[in-house]
Amino acid sequence: MQRTRDFHYRSVHDRDAFWREEASRIHWETPFESVLDFSRPPFAKWFVGGRTNLCYNAVDRWLPTQADKPALIWVSTEVDREQVYTRQDVFEEVNAAAAMLRELGVGRGDRVLLYMPMVPEAVFTMLACARIGAVHSVVFGGFASVNLAQRIDDAAPKVVVCTDGGSRAGKVVPYKPLLDRALGLAKSPPASVVVFDRGLAPFEPVAGRDLDYASLRERHRGARVPVEWLESSEPSYILYTSGTTGRPKGVQRDTGGYAVALASSMEYLFDGRPGDTYFCTSDIGWVVGHSYIVYGPLIGGQATILYEGTPVRPDGAILWKLVEQFGVNTLFSAPTAVRVLKRQDPALLRKHDLSTLRAVYLAGEPLDEPTAQWISEGLGKPIIDNYWQTESGWPILSAQPGVEKVPTRFGSPSFPVYGFDARIVSESNGEDLGPDQKGVVAIVPPLPPGAMSTIWGDDERFVQTYFTSIPGRQVYSTFDWGLVDADGYWFILGRTDDVINVAGHRLGTREIEESVNSHNGIAECAVVGVADPLKGQVAMAFAVLKNPAGADTPEGAKQLEGDIMRLVEEQLGAVARPARIRFVGALPKTRSGKVLRRAIVAVCEARDPGDLTTMEDPNALEQIKESLQ
Ligand code: ATP
Ligand code: MG
Repeated sequence: MQRTRDFHYRSVHDRDAFWREEASRIHWETPFESVLDFSRPPFAKWFVGGRTNLCYNAVDRWLPTQADKPALIWVSTEVDREQVYTRQDVFEEVNAAAAMLRELGVGRGDRVLLYMPMVPEAVFTMLACARIGAVHSVVFGGFASVNLAQRIDDAAPKVVVCTDGGSRAGKVVPYKPLLDRALGLAKSPPASVVVFDRGLAPFEPVAGRDLDYASLRERHRGARVPVEWLESSEPSYILYTSGTTGRPKGVQRDTGGYAVALASSMEYLFDGRPGDTYFCTSDIGWVVGHSYIVYGPLIGGQATILYEGTPVRPDGAILWKLVEQFGVNTLFSAPTAVRVLKRQDPALLRKHDLSTLRAVYLAGEPLDEPTAQWISEGLGKPIIDNYWQTESGWPILSAQPGVEKVPTRFGSPSFPVYGFDARIVSESNGEDLGPDQKGVVAIVPPLPPGAMSTIWGDDERFVQTYFTSIPGRQVYSTFDWGLVDADGYWFILGRTDDVINVAGHRLGTREIEESVNSHNGIAECAVVGVADPLKGQVAMAFAVLKNPAGADTPEGAKQLEGDIMRLVEEQLGAVARPARIRFVGALPKTRSGKVLRRAIVAVCEARDPGDLTTMEDPNALEQIKESLQ
C-alpha cells in the first residue's frame, strides 16, 4: 500500500501542487489565482478566483465527443418505464429547464427547492440550477410536511419544483398534498411552485402559484441558456444531513472544489473512465445521490443510471439484471440494500452476466463483515466499503483502486482518501492515537475540495458544531468512533454517542453488532446502550432473523438468545454480552435506511423518543416496545 500512502501524503503535504494538477481535470472559464485560501481557519476556499460551472462540466463539455452516447438512463420498475437520454438530449432538457427557471425570476445565488422522486426531470432541474448559478436544495421525497417545512424555512427558496407523486414498492405516494401542507406551515413560502405531473396522484393546482412543468418545457423547447460562470467558492447546493442524531444541518457545498474532487474520484476511487456506465442505487435526496448519481459520473463523462424502484421488485435479481442490460461498470449501493437481499434466494446473485462490473461500492452505514462476505462471495466481485458523510461530499475512507490495488478487508473501509488528513484522536486530550487505540475520527483542516464550506447561513454553527468538540486543537470531528489497526486499515466503531460504558469498559455498539451478525440466522441487528443502575449501561440487542420462524416459540427465542450470547462472549468477552437479545420483524430506520439507535435507547429507557419525523416506519419502534414486555 506504499503507493496509496505516498499519494495521500502528497495530497496533504504538497497540497498546492497536488490539487493544481487535479484541477486540470475540469474546465475553468477563468483560471484560479491560488489553490487554497486558508487565512480564516477552519474555513477553506479552494481554487480562489477560478470561474467554472458544474453543469458545463457535466454536460456541455462532453458534447463534442459524446453527444449521441447515453448520459442519463432512467429505469423505473415502479411505473415500468425505461428511457435513455443522450448527452445532447440532456443538454436540450437542461436548457429548457434553465429557461423555465429564469422566466420565474431565478438568478445567481437564488435557491430552488426540489421535492421530487427519481425522475429525469429532477436531474434536469438540478443541472439547470447549476447552469444559471442558482443553489438547489433537494429534499428527499420520503420526508413528511414538517421536515419539508423546516427545510423550506431554512433555505428560503424562490421556487419549489415538485411532482404530483411518486411510487414506492408499487404504491403511489402523493407528494403534492405534502408540499401544500408544508407550504402552509412555512414562514415565507415561495411565490411559484412548478409541478411535474406524472399522472400518478390527481391534485388541484393552486391558482396563481402552481405552474405546469410540461407546459413550461414546451414553451422553452430549443432554448439556449448561457452558462453562469461562478467563482469557485460560490455555493452549488444546500443539502440537509439525514437527521439521524437530531436537527438536520444544511450542508453548503462550493462549486470548483466539488467539481475537482468528484472528477478525481471517478478515476482514483472508482477506477473509471469516460464512456463507462455507473449505477448508484441511492436517491437524489441524499449526498450519495448528488455526488454519484448526478454530478460525479456526468462530470467524469460516464453514463449514469437513475433507478426508481427497490432492490427486490419485480424480484431480488433486478439490480443484477440492470447491470447486465446496461453493461454497468460500477455499482454503488448501501448496506441496508444488501441486508434486504440477504433475505432472498442467493442464487439470484448469479442469474445475470456481471462481467462488465468491476466492483460494488457500499456506503452510508457500517458494513458488517458477515454481510460484506455474503455479498462478495455471492457475486464474486470486490466489495468496497467506503465511509463518508453529507458534510464530506465524497468518501473520507475508501479503497482507491485507481491509485493502487490493495487488498480490502471485510469490516474495514480501508484507508483515508487523498485530501482528507484523517486522524484518530483522543476524546479527552485531542492527541493522535496509535494503532489499535479507539478514538474519534477527526480531520485536520483544511477540509479538502468537495467538503462542506459551511452550514447554510450559519458560519458560527459550522465552527461550533464541527470544530470545537475535541479538546486542545481545532479539528473537524466526524462524531464517529474508530481505530486503525497495525496494518493501517481503518475501522469505524459507531457514532460517538453510541459508545457504551459497561462497568467501566468502553464498547462500540458496532463491535457487538458485528458479533451478533456473525450468527448465521441473523439478517441484521441493532445494539444500544441502556442505562443500568448497577453497571452504568448495558447492551441491548434487537435482531431481525433471516427466517422469522426461528424465534416463533418462546423456547426457540430463548435458545437462540443463549446461542448468540455465547457467540458474543467468545468473540468479545463477557462484558460485551448483551443483557438481552430480542427478535423483531424490522428495525426503526431513518428514511435513508440508517438505524435510529437514539429512538431505541429512549424506548428501552421508557423515555419519550423525541423527534421521529425522519423515521421510516413507526411500526418498527412499536415492535421494539412490545418486544420488551
Ligand atoms: P445527522 O448528521 O443529521 O445525524 P447522519 O449522520 O445519519 O445524520 P449522513 O451524513 O447521511 O447523515 O450519514 C453519515 C454517517 O453515516 C457517518 O457519520 C457514519 O456514522 C455513517 N456511515 C456512513 N458510511 C459509513 C461506513 N462505510 N461505515 C460506517 N459508518 C458509515
Ligand atoms: Mg451526521
